[in-house]
Amino acid sequence: MKIINEVKDAKTIAIGGHVRPDGDCVCSVMALYRYLQKELPEARIDVYLEKPAEVFACIPGIEDIRSDFQTQQVYDVFIALDCNDERLGNALPIYRKAGRRINIDHHISNTGCGDLNIIEPQRSSTAELLYDLMDPQKVDEEIAKAVYIGIAHDTGVFRYSNTSPHTLETAAKLLAFGFDFSELIEKTFFEKTYVQTQIMGRAVLESVRFMNDRCIVSMVTRRMMEFYQVSTKDLDGIVNQLQVVSGVDCAIFMYEIGTLEYKVSMRSNGKVNVADVAVKFGGGGHVRAAGCTMNGTYHDNINNLSREIAGQLKKQKEQA
Ligand code: AMP
Ligand code: MN
Ligand code: MN
Repeated sequence: MKIINEVKDAKTIAIGGHVRPDGDCVCSVMALYRYLQKELPEARIDVYLEKPAEVFACIPGIEDIRSDFQTQQVYDVFIALDCNDERLGNALPIYRKAGRRINIDHHISNTGCGDLNIIEPQRSSTAELLYDLMDPQKVDEEIAKAVYIGIAHDTGVFRYSNTSPHTLETAAKLLAFGFDFSELIEKTFFEKTYVQTQIMGRAVLESVRFMNDRCIVSMVTRRMMEFYQVSTKDLDGIVNQLQVVSGVDCAIFMYEIGTLEYKVSMRSNGKVNVADVAVKFGGGGHVRAAGCTMNGTYHDNINNLSREIAGQLKKQKEQA
């Protein structure tokens, strides 16, 4: 199945992704944008996404993204990437009005929200899945770069267990374009500003282990973000840093997004299914990486999450 067969008659196409877009989301959106521009030069193609982090300035065309979401246009097709409609944020009204909705994603928790759903949880990333929906002859270096960065970000640079032989085969084809992949990954994935490193250090310093040290949690308040002059985009990577602590099966990181409202990120080594935990609180994701938004105090949220995690571990013990 190729994406072009699904959109070739469309005169107007919108592409969107999830709120607080990560590397896979930004790069998938940009790769598809450029690809469809080449395939359908007559069509009007627009991208609706929250403003990506500065590090993605290296992706060509990123300035075309419409982060104001102001449009009266009713699109023939809307393609939602790396999420379901609940996470489209301000793009949701545009999505709802579109003549045809296509949903392409790799989240196990996504049951599909489109007229056409291409949901493949075995894929490392939406970028990897998207590449298979493209005609390889039409992929150029810029598209390849975006797909590569998207895959690299969602696999923790080919480290997480979602990396499959197919992921690496895809990466190999992309590398053949000859771009400086090492610098791209360094700049977009590993490099941190000084304040990003400071707030990560603070979050790690203030982390607490619980449930016999099998879980670890930390939190960043809005006041802390103001103090370090950082935004929520600067908090990427903190939860992964907590997860590397030996003996930890599940890491939880929360940051305050409003009064008694927290964005929760969870990571696991596979012993805890954090997608199931996140789904219980209206979120989703993957077995080893998931997230949700929770209302309540920090401590109430920890209590509620740990009840779910403990329940899972107890069930496993009973089954063993
Ligand atoms: P994060 O912890 O935000 O980096 O997210 C980890 C994984 O879970 C990513 O694949 C996200 O796309 C997914 N995820 C995070 N928050 C949600 C949510 N509220 N609903 C569904 N999936 C989510
Ligand atoms: Mn994502
Ligand atoms: Mn993804």
